[in-house]
Amino acid sequence: MTYKTVLLFGAPGSGKGTQGKILGTIPGFFHFACGDAFRNLRIDDPLGKIFIEFSSKGALVPDESTIELWKKNIHASTSNGSFHPERDTLVLDGIPRNPRQAEMLKTMLDVRAVFHLTCPDKQKMVERLQRRALRENRLDDANMEVIHRRLETYEQETKPVLDYYGVKLVHTIDSTASPMNVLRSILNHIATLDSAAAKV
Ligand code: ADP
Repeated sequence: MTYKTVLLFGAPGSGKGTQGKILGTIPGFFHFACGDAFRNLRIDDPLGKIFIEFSSKGALVPDESTIELWKKNIHASTSNGSFHPERDTLVLDGIPRNPRQAEMLKTMLDVRAVFHLTCPDKQKMVERLQRRALRENRLDDANMEVIHRRLETYEQETKPVLDYYGVKLVHTIDSTASPMNVLRSILNHIATLDSAAAKV
């Protein structure tokens, strides 16, 4: 089974989560945010402990555990009827986060588009993260050093995923535009994909 997929891609604070949550409310879309899946684990879950260990340092959780968590969540959402793979578009937010994860997911994902949310103003992203720290009670957003390490991890480990999928699939969107305009760009593009598919 391959899942029809679009990826939300961008640095921490670029607004992937905001867009993903909106898209997930539209019938025909299912949103999976990898960071949320980790945060939903129980504190006594062994993977929950691993998550805290790595995320508190601004590092990525090891690939095998991450892909396992993804599979479990996708299967659970399919069984409980919230995700209908045969008709829904899977909106992935925060996964794959390095080329190795992309390779591990290769046979399961039919990636139709990668939406790269860019923010040239690093300070603005840092401010977004700091605001989120209190609002969403996120420890990894509360510490300046961890924020900077996450931005570095993004540059060094995550950005190469764009090359993995290649220019044809990647659509760059200015994330400093209003959430409505970012959403409009994403939806316009998805509409062109759907009409291209309808012609085939
Ligand atoms: P951000 O807003 O920083 O992009 P996320 O909620 O997506 O935050 O992720 C928070 C943390 O969860 C990451 O810093 C990382 O430790 C872990 N994480 C999330 N997704 C992945 C993934 N695909 N692979 C490895 N670690 C991940």
